[in-house]
Amino acid sequence: MLDPARLFIIMPQEKQPMENVIIIGSGCAGWTAALYTARANLEPLLVTGAMPGGLLTTTTIVENFPGFPEGVDGFQLMMNMQQQAERFGTKTKMGSAVTAVDLSSRPFKVTIDGEVVETKSVIIATGAGHKHLGLESEKLLDTKGVTYCATCDGALPMFRNKPLVVVGGGDSACEEALYLTRFASVVYLIHRRDTLRASKIMADRVLANEKIKPIWDSTVEEILDVKQDTVTGVRIKNLKTDEVSTLDCAGVFVAIGLVPNTQLFQGVIDTDEAGYIKPTHGSHTNVEGVFVAGDVADKHYRQAITAAAMGCMAAIDAERYLQGLAE
Ligand code: NAP
Repeated sequence: MLDPARLFIIMPQEKQPMENVIIIGSGCAGWTAALYTARANLEPLLVTGAMPGGLLTTTTIVENFPGFPEGVDGFQLMMNMQQQAERFGTKTKMGSAVTAVDLSSRPFKVTIDGEVVETKSVIIATGAGHKHLGLESEKLLDTKGVTYCATCDGALPMFRNKPLVVVGGGDSACEEALYLTRFASVVYLIHRRDTLRASKIMADRVLANEKIKPIWDSTVEEILDVKQDTVTGVRIKNLKTDEVSTLDCAGVFVAIGLVPNTQLFQGVIDTDEAGYIKPTHGSHTNVEGVFVAGDVADKHYRQAITAAAMGCMAAIDAERYLQGLAE
């Protein structure tokens, strides 16, 4: 007879259930893809990344998202999208990051916080991050006066009633400059040309604001002062006259555009020369079963509403792909 004390039970290893669709990213594209795939009963798994809600959570008021006549706070808009997607069964991995993807065989394997999860399809909605000037001093003074987000950092005591610099000439730079007028003594807007790229309404607001002083045709050559370990000014060069000068300031807000977040997919998913994912048609990528939506695939429009629309397209494409697998 077996001695019960010597019996041990081998428990079967708990296997992760296979996901229908994993959505990587939680901006407008990601949440909209989640909403549509959830409503298609696909129980999507959405991985938010380290910055849930994406870049829109760093903006103040969003005035051009239809349905909000008075505008809507960027953070609130993303909260609403999350709630709406979760109401229909979206599973959210909040604050989690995808650290690797294996798209070479099916099912696909997505590593989330070190755990490998299998999935039949993937929607890439990883968005874009802030572009940097590429200066050594920018790197060394990051968070010591150099920042990429006025709404996050503008109210810090170190910036209050001080001259501040915004670099760039697009909508982001204009938005940052306008926001900073609440705190700064003066905002210098340094742009490399003599006309703003921003939409007319934003450009007009900036040019009409007495606290904002545009500095045209100029680039920032150096951020000062690395030795003092805090921003004290910038050295700028006028591109038309080659004149070099310095400007005292307590902060430099860099707003010169975006770079797509495609590091995870290098060499596997086709991108264009600027690094944006290049769909083959609709939201389909060169890997069957992998779809793309939002700023990571869009260097032309880059609006909350276009990202949301692309999220909807990716969800519908993924749903049809999964239907095809089931038939
Ligand atoms: P953007 O439209 O690409 O503008 C980037 C700006 O930075 C341009 O003026 C560009 O100069 C300048 N720039 C680029 N690289 C530079 C460098 N190395 N050194 C100095 N200057 C440099 O980027 P964005 O302003 O971040 O806007 C991105 C997208 O989001 C746009 O589609 C925008 O409409 C949208 N957005 C909308 C809103 C809104 O509607 N409320 C707010 C923010 C952003 P050049 O002009 O000479 O190229």
